[in-house]
Amino acid sequence: MSQTTISTNETPNNLETLLDTLHNFTQTEVKKIAGAPLEAQRWAGESIRLACKQGLAGIEVPKELGGLGLTFHARVKVAEYLAHTDFAFSFAFINHHNAILRIAQDGSAWAKEHYIPALLNGDLIACTAMSEPNAGSDFSAITLKARKTKGGWLLNGSKQWICNAVGADLAIVFAQTDEGSGSAGIAGFIVELQHATCRRLPCGPLNGLTLAGIGGFSLDEHFVHEAAVLYPPGEGFRMALASVNKARVHIAAMASGLLRSALEQANTYCSTRLAFGQPIINFQGLRWSLVDAGLKHDVLQLLTDRATALIEEESPLAMDSAAAAKLYAGQETLNAIAQCIQAMGAAGLQESQGLSNKLLAAKALCLADGTNEMMLERLGATLAQRYQSQYPPIKIAQQHNDAPQNTSLTAASFKAVHLSRLESGETMAEIIHVPLSELPPGEVLVRVQHSTLNYKDALAITGKSPVVRQFPMIPGIDFAGTVEQSADDRFQPGDQVILNGWGTGELRWGGLAQYASTKADWLIPLPKKMTTEQAMSIGTAGYTAMLCVIALERHGIKPESGPILVTGANGGVGSIAIALLSQLGYLVTASTGRVHETEHLLSLGAQAVMDRSALSSPNKPLQKENWAAAIDCVGSHTLANVLASTRYGGIVAACGLAQGMDLPSTVAPFILRGVTLAGIDSVYAPLAIRKQAWERLSHEFPERHRISTVRTIGLTQVIPLAEQLLAGKIRGRLMVDVHA
Ligand code: NDP
Repeated sequence: MSQTTISTNETPNNLETLLDTLHNFTQTEVKKIAGAPLEAQRWAGESIRLACKQGLAGIEVPKELGGLGLTFHARVKVAEYLAHTDFAFSFAFINHHNAILRIAQDGSAWAKEHYIPALLNGDLIACTAMSEPNAGSDFSAITLKARKTKGGWLLNGSKQWICNAVGADLAIVFAQTDEGSGSAGIAGFIVELQHATCRRLPCGPLNGLTLAGIGGFSLDEHFVHEAAVLYPPGEGFRMALASVNKARVHIAAMASGLLRSALEQANTYCSTRLAFGQPIINFQGLRWSLVDAGLKHDVLQLLTDRATALIEEESPLAMDSAAAAKLYAGQETLNAIAQCIQAMGAAGLQESQGLSNKLLAAKALCLADGTNEMMLERLGATLAQRYQSQYPPIKIAQQHNDAPQNTSLTAASFKAVHLSRLESGETMAEIIHVPLSELPPGEVLVRVQHSTLNYKDALAITGKSPVVRQFPMIPGIDFAGTVEQSADDRFQPGDQVILNGWGTGELRWGGLAQYASTKADWLIPLPKKMTTEQAMSIGTAGYTAMLCVIALERHGIKPESGPILVTGANGGVGSIAIALLSQLGYLVTASTGRVHETEHLLSLGAQAVMDRSALSSPNKPLQKENWAAAIDCVGSHTLANVLASTRYGGIVAACGLAQGMDLPSTVAPFILRGVTLAGIDSVYAPLAIRKQAWERLSHEFPERHRISTVRTIGLTQVIPLAEQLLAGKIRGRLMVDVHA
């Protein structure tokens, strides 16, 4: 650890002076309380106040609110530094700091004015209260209730296992506002604890963590003013989890400080303690054991530094990286400290050495902010993605002209819709900047220009269906753009390309982003007559519609064969299918739940419109022979009824499941009327048929319909519109201009 000795009572205003002040404070105050006999140790509240008086509590708190305005990196370093002297004190102090930061970031103007100065100067000490006697890792199960009342909220229930709770003046309390609603009902409140309606519930000092003052409290009709609501109902869960990556990293940093001090003690002792005529560090077995413990410290430090950097970059890899650092800390610190004790022999167990207390702290850190098991689960969720089979192609750059052509690269990072899976299993969708270096490897790097928002993307974004098979994920099953780099001779920088399917947006990062990397085999050149905007305004939906039309044609269906039914007519696939069929001369009947859109459907080329309710309920296995063929986007009873009403020898191209995945039909239409059910899959369709479909779309889909069926949106509108799309409230197609 840095052992700088500058002494100052001035408020620190940068990391260097902060660490100097910290050093003095640690050498005097923290050493004193940590060195006291165990039975004399108490919660370190008074020392936290003292640290605040020296200006140490404002690390990340913005300067305009009286803080130091430093980075997360600074917080991590402070945590590590303090833990080097005492883990429990570090835990308690950072806990207080984090509560201030929450108010600074999300508190009302009143809360900021009322609490932050007093918290910064130590007149108030705060804690963050999430866990309850029966809810720890399972945070959405908390039962402390908040009930709306005039001018505020009434809180009832208890919290347990809370750092600083034995004496804190203020708590950020997470509470359930709507029983039974799980994470959706959780809110966060700033609660004053020095009040008759609050009763402390000490759980007795925890071994190894006495200075952290772990305890609990119960609230009985405790009033919280509206202005002290920190996170409104629905926001609490997300905000609690949003801070968890940072918490995990500073726990890992504290473990690093803790282990470092044990290593210093063991190496000093073993370098000077003689046995058999020489310092015991000369004995190979002992020396190797300390080398091994030291290596664990190095790895922990690297993992912590990596996670800190990724969090500061807001990288999608931060979540896993934080979990990895925390897991490694939990799994290895304990063993490594035990190795230090082993090297020192009985001396290692002397209370004055403090190593057994460090051992207990190393066990405690396995439980705080997610157990080792939770970290394993977190990392397990993305295991397949980390070790996916698409190993990056090896290309060894020669001196000049064989290097990847990246001269046109202008962005170090790119904007994307980013999906991650929360520990509750819910999907979190957000717009973030992703460093270009974090794109999964691929043969071709494409600067995306346009993408679309499809039904499947909406399922992925809302998490309503398990579309995404690996997290984190960038959704978007299709995109069109310009090649920026290529390791495959078929594509050169500047070529315009289209991609849809192949698990893009499900297994591989997709098109709702400004960049994408992909396999060359999956790309098709943009047809000459098409722009990227035109391609994506047709998108996967249009291409699927064309696959359906091709299936009908291959079966021999001609315009004169008779009426063609299209179900889900107002949707993306349905509306383009109508326009294509009409353009080719077919007589199209549109089935829709939105008959008020009849005019629009007729303008697309439908000659008739029917209410979908006629098809959506169970009916006879064989019905009147109405349709020469059909394109069905809906599935379930609708598809069963379409099959039952298709003419002898006709065909139904089934591509969708908007009503349901099931098919409650009989074999009657197939064996009594020779009806063919043709499955349409756009995702893994062979390249030849893809090229044919896109080529045909480039000259068979009328431009006037493209404009009337498409609405252009930007990336920021994607997440809110996903719900509406699933609710059937969007007519036609949504094209995404990813640079808008
Ligand atoms: P959209 O959401 O744009 O359209 C779906 C349409 O289905 C709605 O507009 C609505 O049409 C109708 N619909 C919705 N809910 C119901 C319901 N409960 N009962 C009956 N009809 C309903 O989706 P897309 O057009 O992009 O896709 C249509 C289907 O095709 C989806 O299931 C999608 O997953 C699937 N798909 C399959 C592909 C493949 O490769 N096989 C490729 C692309 C899409 P209306 O308002 O007119 O009734």
